[in-house]
Amino acid sequence: MVGDVKDSVYHLKGTVLPENEKREFWIVNGRVSFAQHKNAVELGQSDFIIGGLVDAHFHLTMDFGDIGLSGMELVRANLEKHLEHGTLFVRDVGLAVDVPYASFQDERLPHVQHAGRFLAPARGYFGMQKPTSPENLVQAAVEQVKNGAGWVKFILNWPLTADVEGLNYPKDVVVRAVRAVHDSGGRVAVHVTNKDGVALAVESGVNSIEHGFGMEEEMFGVMAEKKIAWTPTLVILPIGLDMPVIKNTPKAAKYYDSVQKGIGALVKKAWKTGVRILAGTDMLPAGSLVEEIVALSECGLSPRDAIAAASTEAKSFLNFPGFEENAFANLVVYNEDPTKNLRTLNRPERIMLNGRLAKPQSAS
Ligand SMILES: [Zn+2]
Repeated sequence: MVGDVKDSVYHLKGTVLPENEKREFWIVNGRVSFAQHKNAVELGQSDFIIGGLVDAHFHLTMDFGDIGLSGMELVRANLEKHLEHGTLFVRDVGLAVDVPYASFQDERLPHVQHAGRFLAPARGYFGMQKPTSPENLVQAAVEQVKNGAGWVKFILNWPLTADVEGLNYPKDVVVRAVRAVHDSGGRVAVHVTNKDGVALAVESGVNSIEHGFGMEEEMFGVMAEKKIAWTPTLVILPIGLDMPVIKNTPKAAKYYDSVQKGIGALVKKAWKTGVRILAGTDMLPAGSLVEEIVALSECGLSPRDAIAAASTEAKSFLNFPGFEENAFANLVVYNEDPTKNLRTLNRPERIMLNGRLAKPQSAS
């Protein structure tokens, strides 16, 4: 719940993106109103407005920004960074450590959905996972949901290097685990970086495919039909290719090089086919979402579509609150048109979270 936002009435007029619609509205007690109100504080008449950006693939318990904190302190610090960059909605797709889920709920920090701990076999990931054997996957997955996670994250394939083709879990286990999560009211996100993993993810009907390296065009029709979203995390490919574990393993280096060369065209085709593409930054510091938005536009998505992948499309897929009458105001305001230059997204003029003005990062 959002409490005491009853200070000023605000007035805004501008172009709402990505819809590109001119709108005029007021914010009253923190809520959006399209009806006229008197004595409003003017917040801008010719600006560009986005109803909050969404980073759909982030890890709040990991310190990619070298903040130097851990646990709940790191979660808060990462969320503050997201906020000052206008990222008002974050999906955490894998906790590296246990933190109290209540630490994600703070009306002065971005809205969070999370997937609980990464689930992977003991030797099936970096070591930050909750070790989960195939026999235990169904139970561990359901437990995440019962503990309050809206999502569950499976690592479907790993390691990167020794066997780029292998899978962490047999097909029947994955199918049962996905069904069990859905029956418990949760949704499933899977880490996959090879073709067999993507095919299994699609067949088992997960809700979102993370990375999805190994994706093939013929999968897009079924993905669109089953409403399976794809978070391609384009920005991590150059980082991955530079990791010694990949760089020094010829098979992996060759594989990821080919992924990087082909993924742009695939993302564009997926978008055109109706697959929902989400923007996620994964291993970048909090507040770097513009980098993925630019990468999506470089795949051939229009600037508006790239912004949609990081805002309206993601919000509707994740059921985050929208920009509508009587909703708490979640807004980012820019004084230049971000569709003309996506990097304008790095320079928000004003940020409002749950009806409260928040401080944008100092202009860079
Ligand atoms: Zn990740």
